[in-house]
Amino acid sequence: MKVRSIIDKLYKENNATSEELLFILNNLNPEDKEYLVEKAHETRMRTYGDKVYMRGLIEFTNYCVRNCVYCGIRAENKDADRYRLTEEQILECADLGDSLGYKTYVLQGGEDPYFTDERMVSIIKNIKKRHPKNAITISLGERSYESYEKMFKAGADRYLLRHETASKELYDKLHPNATFENRRKCLGDLKEIGYQIGAGFMVGIPGQTNEDLVKDLLYVKELQPHMCGIGPFIPHKDTPLKDYEGGSLEDTTTMLALIRLLLPAVLLPATTALGSIDPQGREKGIKAGGNVVMPNLSPTNVREKYSLYDGKICTGDEAAECRKCIEGRINRAGFKVEITRGDNVTFAQENNIDQKPEPVNNINLSFVK
Ligand code: SF4
Repeated sequence: MKVRSIIDKLYKENNATSEELLFILNNLNPEDKEYLVEKAHETRMRTYGDKVYMRGLIEFTNYCVRNCVYCGIRAENKDADRYRLTEEQILECADLGDSLGYKTYVLQGGEDPYFTDERMVSIIKNIKKRHPKNAITISLGERSYESYEKMFKAGADRYLLRHETASKELYDKLHPNATFENRRKCLGDLKEIGYQIGAGFMVGIPGQTNEDLVKDLLYVKELQPHMCGIGPFIPHKDTPLKDYEGGSLEDTTTMLALIRLLLPAVLLPATTALGSIDPQGREKGIKAGGNVVMPNLSPTNVREKYSLYDGKICTGDEAAECRKCIEGRINRAGFKVEITRGDNVTFAQENNIDQKPEPVNNINLSFVK
């Protein structure tokens, strides 16, 4: 078996066996890595061209009832400075985002029971009333089928729920008082309801093996999510994993490239976590097949409080500065920002969603220094 011949097979067939994927992970040398990234890039150029989609991230609550051992806003962290945005504040973020050219919002928070179905439905409906053409992505953890359905009927388009790890043993160690089975059930429910769904996993979490990462790749291939969020594990000082080493940029970009080859049409973010472990992390993620960035739209006074891991970048920048910075980075990396909802290309075709971009000159960033 040769690494390059498996990469060639992945490029042609978008598939590989667990043995082949494990062989790549165990034997990838720098030259083969370059080849892998090249093939992932060619694949993204075929499906999405040089376009990169932007999502305006609104981190609206850092309260959470769960205790994921790697997370800085876990319930047991008494040092977390908790906040919730009001509906009015969330709507202001959405207005600002629209004026900056974000046609998708990601409303993200911990599992916070304060945000009942009624409150979420009201927020979603009011955003849609003001910005009917914009897409809404929710990322609010595990909820009931009925809850997901109510938010979908109110106008939510997409739901992000990383599966975190496809190894049951590892999942159980990392997520006290939660079950591997329910996580998967939630992803199935979301898909059945009609959301564009996002799964995803961490790279470099303590105890994770290459075999575990192969399980992630195969699970994502089987689930066929519309999006897949992959980020390095980064330790947070107030968690039980504070003394462990974080995941690496190299391992994370390898997983991004493999996912691009397995699912050519997937929306693949170059995450803020990647940008936090390397100044060029997001650019390298985009070059390895990533086609989404999620700059922050949350008010600057709460940014630092949404602290899932240490060393998070962009916590002090105004939304307009982030917008300008990220576009410059994307352009310098040889790609282009497109002002559109940026739906999954297969989903858009199947559902006749208009993917025509809006003219960039509608966006005025001249006031940003
Ligand atoms: S990872 Fe999500 S669910 Fe887990 S503690 Fe953090 S915010 Fe809560």
